[in-house]
Amino acid sequence: MNSGKSTMLIQVAHNYSETGQRAIIIKPAIDTKDQGIHSRIGISKPVDIYVSANDDIYKKIKDFYSNEPFDAIVVDEVQFLEPKQVEDLYKITVEMSVPVMAYGLRTDFRGQSFPGAARALDLANVIEEIRTKCTLCSKKANHNSRRRDGKFEKSGEQVVIDDGTEVEYVPLCSDHFLEKVGF
Ligand SMILES: [Zn+2]
Repeated sequence: MNSGKSTMLIQVAHNYSETGQRAIIIKPAIDTKDQGIHSRIGISKPVDIYVSANDDIYKKIKDFYSNEPFDAIVVDEVQFLEPKQVEDLYKITVEMSVPVMAYGLRTDFRGQSFPGAARALDLANVIEEIRTKCTLCSKKANHNSRRRDGKFEKSGEQVVIDDGTEVEYVPLCSDHFLEKVGF
């Protein structure tokens, strides 16, 4: 996705390593062909823990910590975690006094909340918006719309599993969202 958040996420993890600390990277295991975190400016970083929908994220993180202690947790694509997994991350940050910084999208291509993102916004102590420009007019983007084989989609599944069609995500301002996608 085109917002520069991968670059920020990698930078945050890098800042920890520069001070001799370690931030681990967690990512939902949705897109298995896309190993690691890749930014559009060409830097990448491996993922330490992939999380599936059925995984006990609390146990996975605790087990990881007992082998390889860390100082912070960075989460990519938090919108794809289950709400319960987001609650477990909240427990982890409180119980272990380890900061959790989660990056993701608030809403899907129709402008509807991802359940995991909604729970993350409920529980976050600090929320920061990463500003992105509309692809069509360069005003501030408020939506991340989906184009399949060149056409904006108005309906469909929230998460696309690769089915051979060409899918791209397009940041849009509110005007262009109403014009191209609408309700
Ligand atoms: Zn626009």
